[in-house]
This record gives sequence, structure tokens and C-alpha cells, in this order.
Amino acid sequence: GAAEGAAAAGAPELPGYAHVYSGKVRDLYAPVDPASGDLRPDVLLLVASDRISAFDFVLQTPVPDKGAVLTQLSLWWFEQLADLVPHHVVSTDVPDAVAGRAVLVRRLEMLPVECVARAYLTGGGLREYRADGHVSGLRLPDGLTDGSRLPEPLFTPSTKAEQGAHDEPMSYADVETAVGPALAARARDLTTAILRRGNEIATGRGILVADTKVEFGLEDGELVLADEVLTPDSSRFWPADQWEPGHPQPSFDKEFVREWLTSPASGWDRTSGEAPPPLPDEVLERTRAKYVEAYERLTGRRF
Ligand code: ATP
Ligand code: MG
Repeated sequence: GAAEGAAAAGAPELPGYAHVYSGKVRDLYAPVDPASGDLRPDVLLLVASDRISAFDFVLQTPVPDKGAVLTQLSLWWFEQLADLVPHHVVSTDVPDAVAGRAVLVRRLEMLPVECVARAYLTGGGLREYRADGHVSGLRLPDGLTDGSRLPEPLFTPSTKAEQGAHDEPMSYADVETAVGPALAARARDLTTAILRRGNEIATGRGILVADTKVEFGLEDGELVLADEVLTPDSSRFWPADQWEPGHPQPSFDKEFVREWLTSPASGWDRTSGEAPPPLPDEVLERTRAKYVEAYERLTGRRF
């Protein structure tokens, strides 16, 4: 990330908290000790904004309620996964200004790895497979196509790139070098277990989780699930009833955004390097509805 210590555009002022970092979507704060004025070192306030990114740009137009949907969906999943892995949430008692879209979390030393697992083949995994039949160094059966279900979930880690840069694939050996063999094995097994559990729950509710990215932090030598989990931002969600291998699947969330941005209506040239234009209200509303639908389908709750 690039915004350490800087006041990020759009990160709200929160009395009693100091802004410490902004990623593409989240703004991080540390509580200020009222007596000493020092920042509390043990916890962070993780605030999910309504910012949306597409084609590696953070778009100018926020999607109403997106931050709240991501936060509430992650909280729900942390509970569904609690028997598999401890999570970072300490409390949902947060300032009114960010109610519903913020959580107080344990401040962890994050692993320098984006832990990705894939249950279906598409995107970067498909490109690797087409090149030489392997994904992340693992040999796959012949005859797979875009959208094929994999024999079992694969761990396909990537680097945590600085803002604006692409995450690069990492081999499993790279992960072992970065964190040691024991933590690498634990991260791999947990990541695939989270995706398995995610699909066990989601498939019956009409959603396939094609792939997902999780982040772990370390506390007392143990991996703790951090950041967000099994959201439409961190995962590819596909409508189960439309799943048909052989071509790109309709995606659950950014479909309308990507469709509009690449249509003549936007007037935007993806290859120009220029920032995309603001999104029209209709695209925003349909996108918001998709995020809410994912939350409601998965949790069975009204948003
Ligand atoms: P980047 O950090 O590279 O900008 P991003 O754009 O995905 O990635 P966001 O999701 O917007 O980032 O911000 C969340 C940031 O908070 C990430 O850098 C993530 O690693 C970090 N983070 C999440 N949970 C914790 C935690 N419990 N302790 C410390 N850092 C955390
Ligand atoms: Mg993130």
C-alpha cells in the first residue's frame, strides 16, 4: 500500500482515532489513548468504504452501502468459519459515523502473501493452465475449460502488490521461503478449507464461489484470519443456476460496472491508461443491488 500515515482522500475524520493507512477499499485507524495521546498498538479500526475498483482503478463513484455489505457479510462468515480458524474481530462497537461498516480488530503482523484458493478454473488460473497444463506448479487433468470445476480446491498464492500494481503469482516454494514451511502449509490448508466450507454453504444458496483470497496475520505464532472473507470483492461469486463451463461466467458483483465501462456508452478506452469516468446512477443502483443480493442469499437475512 502507498498511503501509510497520509490522510487518504475520502477517509473520514474520526474523533478519538488516528488514520494510519488506506487501501483501495478500507481505511485503517488506531484508537488514541486519551491520557497519553499515544496510539493503541494492539487494535485497529477497519472501516470499509463504498469505494469500488475495476480494471485496477479505484472508481470515482462510490457504490452506496457497499462498505456495510462487505463488513456485515465478513462478520457472518467469520462465525461460520470459527471452528476452522480464529479471526481478528474484537468488537463491532464503533463510532456512529461508521456504524455498520467498521470493526475493531486485533492488529496483526500480516503474512506477505495473498492466500488464494480456486475451486473453479478461470482468470489467471485458466491462463496458466492453457500455457502448460499447470496452475501454481500443480498439474491438472486435460480437457478443462473456462469455468470447469477443479477436482479439488487449489492453493494459488500471489504477492501483495503495492497500490496500483498487479499481484504476481507466487509458487508454493516462494511462500515457504517467505514465511517458513510450517506456516506455509498451515496457510495453504486453511485457505482451501475456507473455500471448501464457503462452497458447502453457498452452493445450496445459489452461489458458486469460484475462487477467493484471504489474508492471515500472526499472533503468538498462530495464523489468524484477518481482513475480509468470502465477499464479492475478495471472491468470484457465480450464480449457480447459470453455471456453464466453456465461456466466461456471469459474475455476481462488478458485472454491470465492467460491462458499462467497456461499452461505447462510457466513452472510456481501457488501454488509454486514463482513469475511468464516473458511473451512471443506473449502473450504481444495479451494482448495489447485486452486493445486497449476495448478502441476503448467503446469510438468509434482510440487509
Ligand atoms: P493494499 O493494502 O495493498 O492497499 P487493498 O487495497 O486490498 O490492499 P484494503 O482492503 O483497502 O487493501 O485495506 C485493508 C488493509 O488492511 C490491507 O492492507 C490488509 O492487509 C490490512 N489488514 C486487514 N486486517 C488487518 C489486521 N487485523 N491487522 C493489520 N492489518 C490488517
Ligand atoms: Mg483488500
